Amino acid sequence: MKIAVIGTGYVGLVTGTCLAESGNDVVCVDNNAQKVATLNAGGIPIYEPGLEELVKKNHRDGRLTFTTDLAKAVRAARIVFIAVGTPQSDEGDADLTAVWAVSNAIGDALRDVPPGPPGSRIVIVKSTVPVGTNRGVAERLNAKGAGHVDTASNPEFLKEGAAINDFMKPDRVVVGVRRPEVAEVLRELYNPFLRTERPFIVMSPESSEMTKYAANAMLATKISFINEMANLCDRVGADINDVRKGMGHDQRIGFQFLFPGPGYGGSCFPKDVQAIIAMGRHTNLPLKLMESVDLVNDDQKQVLGQKIRFHFQNDVKGKTFAIWGLAFKPQTDDIREAPALVLIDELLAAGAKLRVHDPEATANVRAIYGDKLTYCDGPYGAVEGADALVIVTEWKTFQNPDFEMMKKLLTTPLIFDGRNIYDTKVMQNLGYTYYAIGRGKKA
Ligand code: NAD
Repeated sequence: MKIAVIGTGYVGLVTGTCLAESGNDVVCVDNNAQKVATLNAGGIPIYEPGLEELVKKNHRDGRLTFTTDLAKAVRAARIVFIAVGTPQSDEGDADLTAVWAVSNAIGDALRDVPPGPPGSRIVIVKSTVPVGTNRGVAERLNAKGAGHVDTASNPEFLKEGAAINDFMKPDRVVVGVRRPEVAEVLRELYNPFLRTERPFIVMSPESSEMTKYAANAMLATKISFINEMANLCDRVGADINDVRKGMGHDQRIGFQFLFPGPGYGGSCFPKDVQAIIAMGRHTNLPLKLMESVDLVNDDQKQVLGQKIRFHFQNDVKGKTFAIWGLAFKPQTDDIREAPALVLIDELLAAGAKLRVHDPEATANVRAIYGDKLTYCDGPYGAVEGADALVIVTEWKTFQNPDFEMMKKLLTTPLIFDGRNIYDTKVMQNLGYTYYAIGRGKKA
């Protein structure tokens, strides 16, 4: 099928690339000319494991191209995906400026295209959008004289860091349609990815839009829940790691997303929780649970800083900290809403010096902080001469360091572990003072 994907970010580029890989003819469109130029020159603007190889291969084979010319790409396509950003507005709602701009541009492009049978042209919203957005897209197309074009909702559930695998082997595909013919076209498109009997779930656009928010709200809730339990463990002398195991074996609970940490970040959970709260507000239904999830997360982003202040009795001026992990999670260079940024701001404001390391996200952090931080190529370089190590993101390369060597590099054997990646007893035996999250140490 001929496909246009509007918005070539984490979601759009992965969607376009995976659809090209399954044999479709895909044009990725972005209004960021520099991004398009980078892609056309064989570069990849983001880090996502496995993506570069697939982009290069499909680009070389001519199934995947990049352009800023939306009208041309849309006119040639049977299926148009909208995958632009929907960031948080000042009021907390999803900011739909880009979605509406793209909808109007698609309407302009398709005005003169003759109508065909149902499903012959479909505009699909893949961005995460509030309930009613699909209707709004259809209204805009109609107002532009392209009302004959079908619209659909098809939220994306991929995880950054595992995006290719998630797209190629989705747990499920959800589509929201008004006509069954549209669902059938989408079923055909997704068939190559659903071979292992993964469900293809058809519903209304409204339910489909809501499904994405409900799924992310649930995941964010699990994280805030376990973080709250961890903080209580610290105060009552229990170890959340044992508690987590004891809970998770209950099949009604399970283990997924029950890892305590320094709060969730990224481009999705924070803004999607805000957006669902806003949806409730607009319908006079205060979402008290979601508001609490959000508040707990804001507080959790302070927890590492609190532990550091506790240890240094509120005086970190002139102290040097090594920070391992800047991206909001491993396997990505994405630092949007990353807990590391909250910690960096706090420690800088308190007069500390910071030596930071991340395998992929350093360039993005440098773009914000410039020469306020010392950027280190490797984890050991960051630790050299530091008064403590703080682990914010659990990259695999941090799991098994040479602790004896680190003792020599640090001025004091002191670790604040925001991801609970080490064994408390082992750390004690090695002579480290070890703070983690919810492992029974008050701070
Ligand atoms: P992103 O910011 O990485 O990419 C958005 C892209 O859209 C950018 O390249 C931007 O230049 C482009 N764009 C903006 N306005 C445009 C316009 N008028 N015309 C053409 N291009 C335009 O965003 P993302 O992380 O890919 O997220 C996109 C959507 O998918 C969001 O709604 C997000 O909530 C949702 N989502 C994201 C993830 C994720 O893990 N990142 C997962 C699932 C869903």
